[in-house]
Amino acid sequence: MRRLIAFLLLRCPHCFRGAIFHGLWGMHERCPVCGIVYERETGYFMNAIFFGYVLGFIAILPLNVLLYVTDAHLIWFAVGTLATLTLLAPVIFRYSRAIWMHLDEMLDPRPDSFPDKEPLSR
Ligand SMILES: [Zn+2]
Repeated sequence: MRRLIAFLLLRCPHCFRGAIFHGLWGMHERCPVCGIVYERETGYFMNAIFFGYVLGFIAILPLNVLLYVTDAHLIWFAVGTLATLTLLAPVIFRYSRAIWMHLDEMLDPRPDSFPDKEPLSR
């Protein structure tokens, strides 16, 4: 349950407290609370692309079903899909990375004394 709340609030997959993102597109390199490096290895976030596709599909599905049921012209499918994905791009970007990070931490948890942690300055 703590992980689900941390995921929904886009918090660190390890300590559940530190913010993952700053600004609309910016991402912290390390957790501001526990200090773990978010990008575990080069290309780490490539797996998040898969979750981005899934979230994008889920995002456009209701509108496209509605357009299909109302027998709308094909151009409205394209316009609706493009508008929806453009408006939701920041949300899809953030949650696709958060899904991947939390899933990865569940499958391959980091020990509390991980060598890439920095001592916290408080
Ligand atoms: Zn953390």
